[in-house]
Amino acid sequence: MNPATVALGTEHEELTYAELAARVEHTATRLRELGVSAGTRVAYLGPNSIDTWVCFFATARAGGIFVSLNIRLAPPEIGYMLADSGSHVLVHGPECAELATAAEPTEHGVAHVLPAADLRPSSRPESAAGSPLLDPIDAQDPVELDDPVLILYTSGTTGRPKGAVLTHANITWNTVNQLAHIDVLSTDVALCVAPLFHVTGLGQVSMPTLLKGGTVVVVPKFDAGGFLALIARRRATCFSAVPTMLQMLCEHPDWESADLSSLRYVIYGGSSIAEDVAQAWLDRGIVLQQGYGMTEAAPGVFMALPRGALARPVSAGVPHFFTDVRLEVDGEVVPGPGPGELLVRGPNVFAGYWNRPEETAQVLAEGWYRSGDVVRIEDDGWAYVVDRVKDLIISGGENIYPAEVEAAITELADVTAAAVVAVPDPKWGEVGCAYVVLGAGADLDEIALRAHLEQRLARYKIPRYVELCDDLPRNATGKVLRSVLREQARHDHP
Ligand code: AMP
Ligand code: MG
Ligand code: MG
Repeated sequence: MNPATVALGTEHEELTYAELAARVEHTATRLRELGVSAGTRVAYLGPNSIDTWVCFFATARAGGIFVSLNIRLAPPEIGYMLADSGSHVLVHGPECAELATAAEPTEHGVAHVLPAADLRPSSRPESAAGSPLLDPIDAQDPVELDDPVLILYTSGTTGRPKGAVLTHANITWNTVNQLAHIDVLSTDVALCVAPLFHVTGLGQVSMPTLLKGGTVVVVPKFDAGGFLALIARRRATCFSAVPTMLQMLCEHPDWESADLSSLRYVIYGGSSIAEDVAQAWLDRGIVLQQGYGMTEAAPGVFMALPRGALARPVSAGVPHFFTDVRLEVDGEVVPGPGPGELLVRGPNVFAGYWNRPEETAQVLAEGWYRSGDVVRIEDDGWAYVVDRVKDLIISGGENIYPAEVEAAITELADVTAAAVVAVPDPKWGEVGCAYVVLGAGADLDEIALRAHLEQRLARYKIPRYVELCDDLPRNATGKVLRSVLREQARHDHP
């Protein structure tokens, strides 16, 4: 790529590819001075910024593993992830200094806590040798493609979040897969608005654009009006987003008048989209491509092709080139369209969960990752996500695992049982509804319950609705009948 082209930009700063390389080298040197070497975990807590990208590349350069933390989490959740990952360093953006402190990183074994600004060249005293950019680079351990480079936390059927470990190969092959499905150009200006603590922020649009030598404009915070103006001001050509964002944009008062003439394509995914929202974007002449995937696949599994997407606005697309898929019903591979549970295999599929061999074995066997999603694949190869067999609520693009919320609720002595299920929501796609059973003589009310949850959980995980009830519906073996509760919740909150 051209060293003089802008690689990363914000409203305040721009770095060419040459400057980015120098900045990454400088930061890698600083990280090595802090003790980062092959396999060392470097945690990062901050909204999307140039520092996030530089710290990611620098950690990779030093052979370390970048642990990208969701800034919307509550302090105990972050503390847990720092301890679980065994992070040696915690780097935080200026907006997250307080949150970083509240997570008590040193109590959780972190040796160095520092603001991202401390890793930039200007904050460093000039050495006698001159520019700090000319500092000699230590002899490095060679980085292999199968070495881990990224840990992202996800949850599941067991209450505690677990770290999905992605390797250099996973990220690289996902990027190659993306390039095969997207018409990326070296002249592209991509808006990096999906958060970099989710693999879509990194893997969709931004990495492919950087690999082609285009420009990535980093957006720290999404607001619909500001984003529409930014598209016009930067003459942006592409971005990736979740359906809730696309809906907020096309419902914004500035939508009709916004200059979107520079936009060529938009990738969206993470959950399904309402057909009228998809149509609103297609009507503007923008190529809209749905992607389906998961953290464990770095993330791409299916993606719509530019040709064909128009005729199938809600399809998740066709399998990525270097990724295999199959459908299973009751443990048997089914031919034809299915539907069946989707299994995924390929060089983009993750290495396992950090220090969790048993939970890894539950989802990963002989290279096949069991998705927990029910998918139909039509004869023409285009896929539709029709259901989920796992308990998962997807709200505005953030995943909520009922087990984690239920564990936080039942921590309270007054509570004997709790179940959280999804209710459809016109803005967020889904929101949570909690059914809570109190013990005899308990005097807990909803306000006290919410106050408790706010201490423990990210706000987006706190159920929108709370219903106190006498009992949960259960089957003969005592298992909660979630499908009955989902029906109940739809009825209670139409
Ligand atoms: P995560 O990687 O943790 O954000 O979550 C992955 C899960 O999100 C998948 O297993 C699906 O359940 C869901 N998902 C991702 N993309 C889509 C999509 N395009 N349509 C429907 N569900 C999706
Ligand atoms: Mg997601
Ligand atoms: Mg209890």
